Amino acid sequence: MAYSYDDDNIFARILRGEIPNDTVLETEHCLAFRDIAPQAPEHILVVPKGRYVTYDHFALEASEAEIADFTRTIGRICADLGVQPGDGGAGYRLISNAGENGLQEVPHLHVHILAGRRLGPLLAKG
Ligand code: 5GP
Repeated sequence: MAYSYDDDNIFARILRGEIPNDTVLETEHCLAFRDIAPQAPEHILVVPKGRYVTYDHFALEASEAEIADFTRTIGRICADLGVQPGDGGAGYRLISNAGENGLQEVPHLHVHILAGRRLGPLLAKG
């Protein structure tokens, strides 16, 4: 399967430092920053530094080190936010939109971490 990556997408430009961002955490393989149009009191985007378009692309082609770093970064942010249900937190939701049916706007893999309020049903109708 060939994925075509657009080096001019907005998150590639953020990763190159061409556009400012509100960084929450940076690791060897990831950058996490606040969404510019937050949909919840906490709305953080976690982005791998590698050229991956979607979650499936990353899951199939990223290195073990990249996958471990991405997964641990999401866990660390949940812990830093204090939202882990197993530790008395009120919970959160992870979303990763992919492609046309997923209504993905930015073609660089990102996971949304949403927290800080009751988030409602998983999907809106339509
Ligand atoms: P998608 O629909 O691709 O899953 O979500 C893209 C997200 O990126 C949206 O929630 C949107 O608000 C956010 N976004 C788009 N442009 C920028 C930007 O320049 N900076 C930041 N921090 N977020 C952005």
